[in-house]
Amino acid sequence: MTHHSGLMRTTPLLRETTSSLICRIVSRYGMEPKVLRACWKWRNYPPGHGGGGARADAEVLLNTAGRQLLVGMCGVEEAVLARALPSWAKEDAKLRAKAGDPAGLWRIGGAVAGPVAFGCRLCTARRTGTAVRAVRYAPRWERVCVRHGRWLLDADANQPLEHLDLRGLPEVVEAQRQWAKVARRAVRAGAGPERVFVLARAVVARWWEQGFGWERETVWPRRLHQVAGGDAGGDLERWRIVGRDAVVFPEVVAVADALLDPGMAELVWVDSGAGRPRALPTDGMFCRRLGERLGRTWLGPLAADHGGPLIAWMGSIIRLRRGAGGPPGYDNDPWWLRQEHQAATMAGQLRVLGKEKKAPGSGTMVAGRGARRAAQADHQHCRQRRRAAAAAAWGEQRAGRRRRPAAAARPRSQRRLDRERLETHRGGGGERRRAPSRGGPVGGHARRGAPEDAHRGRAGGGRLSTVRQEEVG
Ligand SMILES: [Zn+2]
Repeated sequence: MTHHSGLMRTTPLLRETTSSLICRIVSRYGMEPKVLRACWKWRNYPPGHGGGGARADAEVLLNTAGRQLLVGMCGVEEAVLARALPSWAKEDAKLRAKAGDPAGLWRIGGAVAGPVAFGCRLCTARRTGTAVRAVRYAPRWERVCVRHGRWLLDADANQPLEHLDLRGLPEVVEAQRQWAKVARRAVRAGAGPERVFVLARAVVARWWEQGFGWERETVWPRRLHQVAGGDAGGDLERWRIVGRDAVVFPEVVAVADALLDPGMAELVWVDSGAGRPRALPTDGMFCRRLGERLGRTWLGPLAADHGGPLIAWMGSIIRLRRGAGGPPGYDNDPWWLRQEHQAATMAGQLRVLGKEKKAPGSGTMVAGRGARRAAQADHQHCRQRRRAAAAAAWGEQRAGRRRRPAAAARPRSQRRLDRERLETHRGGGGERRRAPSRGGPVGGHARRGAPEDAHRGRAGGGRLSTVRQEEVG
């Protein structure tokens, strides 16, 4: 299909999802998404969230004829689309069957080319002239729009916000600049920036869960209230999930930097007895120094709890120094993160929170089985404990604070946040599901193992004063 002069030119954003590009074309013509989508023959239904509603991270794969059709609609060279769209060249057997007609297949972005996030609307407006929603593949260490001071949220979760406002949190924006240096350090160390980031994030995410009960942690509650537009207290549980990655980003970058520092590894070695093995103390020099680097002198004894990712990293460092590791690439690889240590995602945690809120007495969960009922009761118990801890540590942050101001008196940034929230609620450029998804053909629904959905009840659990020797040796 050739470019007709009546068509507007639409250039893709870098790493945009093909689905997002199609939505932007639709919005330029002021058409309903379904009108444009009728141009392709679809092999399945658009993926939706569990409780209904279209997924912002929906992605489409197109066959050759389908791609040619989109090239014509965009009015740009095919090579431009091929360079910009990570899903462009992805093939699927279901599309090869009938090669002739333009055909498409729905997928979930995360299953096609990695995590997807909302684009910064202000940046999209700079590029395209309109501040519409865009969805792009973006690793979790590239979520700050430095230009506009925004944290760009995961697009795979069932929640309406696209970004968090970082203008009151220069340290989070600065951390994005710092990360570039840490990433170069990771490359020099041969570790790979991605693996270092994922490990550091897992360490800090664990602190985040435990930090709910840390009275001396005052930085995170302050930041959380800030990204929540002034006060997260009205919906603290949800804000702790939605705001976590933005709030802890400076600490994640600092931990990554520390773990790459040979001087810090040396402290682990000294703590372990340096060749004369002894039980690793959790308040050793390494943990103390780590706390200092993070501006939290009290963190030391709390930093590396039994069974967590940090102690696993320390164990690998010690085994490497002893030369007593197993086969390379497994147990003695410091950057290898166990599945159960991976940080829970926002999407996964929101699903759990949604189930928790629905569960008591709603009848939506099957309560006939004893095991599930017991698990549920246990869950309830943990929730109450977490609530109590929150009231003690995080709630106190707000004690001296004004009550939530009335709409007219609220800060401008907050009013803007509200407005944008409203806009996203209205679904600008959004899509409706045409039919319920039928389970089978929609790819990527399979959840990745347990960590994000698993019951996490360890907050407030007993802490060991020393770490058992078998954990490191
Ligand atoms: Zn921007």
